[in-house]
Amino acid sequence: MHAAPLDKYSSLIVADKDPGCSPPTNSIRVTYLGVNGFQFENGGHALLVDPYFTRIGLWAAALNERIESNPNRVTEGLRYVRPDIDAILVTHAHFDHLLDGPEIMRRTHAQLLAGPTAIRLVESFGISPGKCDAVKPGSARKIGPFKIRVFPAQHDRLFGKIPFSGKSASSKPMKASDWGVGEPLAFLIEAAGKRIYIDSGGMPGAPPTAEHVDLAILGVALPDSRKRFAEAIRQLQPRYILPSHQDDMFAPMNRGFVFGKMTNFPALLRETRKENLPGDLILLDYFKPWTLP
Ligand SMILES: [Zn+2]
Repeated sequence: MHAAPLDKYSSLIVADKDPGCSPPTNSIRVTYLGVNGFQFENGGHALLVDPYFTRIGLWAAALNERIESNPNRVTEGLRYVRPDIDAILVTHAHFDHLLDGPEIMRRTHAQLLAGPTAIRLVESFGISPGKCDAVKPGSARKIGPFKIRVFPAQHDRLFGKIPFSGKSASSKPMKASDWGVGEPLAFLIEAAGKRIYIDSGGMPGAPPTAEHVDLAILGVALPDSRKRFAEAIRQLQPRYILPSHQDDMFAPMNRGFVFGKMTNFPALLRETRKENLPGDLILLDYFKPWTLP
């Protein structure tokens, strides 16, 4: 048995007392799906961001072997989200954000909001262009009760380089490197007077400083992201701070939340406290919904 590493930080974990109750109409309910995946619900509507359940193993990714979405793991993950999803938002086209996109679109009838590279990759799986909406920084959309605004983002670097930064093949992607980064985006999602900012790393490109942000979800997968974490928080001034993409994305989900080897949550926590940053640092466990207070 593995010790559940999140237990160490139980005072930071937030969750609804009654996870079975219906989603609120006066707030947004947030469910963490692992890696950078989230469900946001308001009333009878839901958005997903970067849903990824397949969990390709480290060696398949590192050796650039043939990879594909695992239907059984997608079925398992989708047990925790609504059967109908209004839209899937994708921050960039890497496999750990988009590999399961086509399969989840088919099953949930969701449309896709993403950059042009992500859309081209998804369409290569036979998804109808009518289901795909290409957005760019500055784009705004209204989907159900959700107002979505798109901001530029940067992908963090690993050993000085953006991973899989090459252009994707125009045909169907086969290997991890075929899922090229594309155009990194951040989203500001608003419903019921609550605002959530979500990115997958990098600095906020055009932070909505004049507006309050209730929850900032910032990707901290790579050491690079820790350098800009404090500054991003100062720009966004959120009420709650949720570091994301810090679990081990190569471990199967049924192991539960295990911190990734390149993340350093203790350092992030120390810095947040030392810099006296605004907002409460929180953690979410897999599939345990939390309604924004
Ligand atoms: Zn990435």
